[in-house]
Amino acid sequence: MSIIQVENLEYVYGAGLPGATRALHDVSFSIEEGDFVGIIGPTGCGKSTLITHFNGLHRPSSGRILVDGQDMWADPKAIRRFRFMVGLVFQYPEYQLFEETVYKDIAYGPTNMGLDADEVRRRVLMAADFCGVAESWLEKSPFELSGGQKRRVAIAGVIAMQPRVLVLDEPAAGLDPEGREMILSQVKAYHRESGSSVVLVSHSMEDIAKYADKVLVLQEGTVAMYDTTENVFARAQELMDMGLSVPQVTQIFLQLRSMGIDISTDVYTIPYAVKTICRALEERGLSGC
Ligand code: ADP
Repeated sequence: MSIIQVENLEYVYGAGLPGATRALHDVSFSIEEGDFVGIIGPTGCGKSTLITHFNGLHRPSSGRILVDGQDMWADPKAIRRFRFMVGLVFQYPEYQLFEETVYKDIAYGPTNMGLDADEVRRRVLMAADFCGVAESWLEKSPFELSGGQKRRVAIAGVIAMQPRVLVLDEPAAGLDPEGREMILSQVKAYHRESGSSVVLVSHSMEDIAKYADKVLVLQEGTVAMYDTTENVFARAQELMDMGLSVPQVTQIFLQLRSMGIDISTDVYTIPYAVKTICRALEERGLSGC
């Protein structure tokens, strides 16, 4: 069964008021348990509006969202339940840290779920471990940490709720390449080991290519593509026509093709690029790999 199913979602900001903006329309797709879905699209296409629907921060103007088969808004009083099932990490989540200690910040979500102190502690330690939060930081004030360290604490706070779906909006924004790699590889490890689904919004095509198994492309408030990462990046020209970039390695293959070299262009990772070049050489009777 799909963990998230979106049916004909429409969302209008300021509905009924002058200047109302229809941010989403005719959005239908589903995310299966264990999927790692990347969401891309030009600024203003509705990415943030869409993901804030997943844990009930926005209510559809029309259409439905089912989480684990249940219509989120069938009983609006029960919406809190879905906030624990779908964990949302906003952009720059470190700005939301507020407790006296790192421990208390990570414990905030699981404590709110009504779990007992032992279970809260187990989850804090598990989440800290996943996010590379050292035990020695736990009794420090979050404000003593660097920006990248605070980001890891904030993500640990969401992971500590053990959501069935972890949704992250540009989790690596503003970090240096080493910080990006660290956060995203930790998210990937969490995905692999917990079996939960992950939804990653990112402007970085390299990050999407490296981590996502499926990609949803939004354009002007609706789904333009939803397919495996390979199939989406194989439509590189269409993505570029939408004003999006494609991974650098894909651009190289497009360039080779435009130079008249007969080579496939559905390449989006370095290992697959190596394989494709080796195959092309072999086909031409040249070895070298
Ligand atoms: P993205 O995350 O892809 O940049 P958003 O979901 O933020 O896109 O925005 C989608 C559309 O909704 C845009 O046209 C944006 O201007 C509009 N929008 C976003 N937030 C609001 C708001 N609070 N009030 C009115 N319009 C909004």
